[in-house]
Amino acid sequence: MVGAVEEEFPPSKQFIAVCRTGECPVAGIEFEVTLYGPNYACICGRCGQAHSELIEL
Ligand SMILES: [Zn+2]
Repeated sequence: MVGAVEEEFPPSKQFIAVCRTGECPVAGIEFEVTLYGPNYACICGRCGQAHSELIEL
């Protein structure tokens, strides 16, 4: 049978991510991102630091 293993994959969620690294060129700018559980971590594409603000939509 097929279709019983959906729970193996954590759901994706939409977040607003904001980088707060001082010298980052995109600091303070809100980005809409899709993240995957269970950690929902997001790394800034410009400075490589983890986004300190994640706001779930
Ligand atoms: Zn950054």
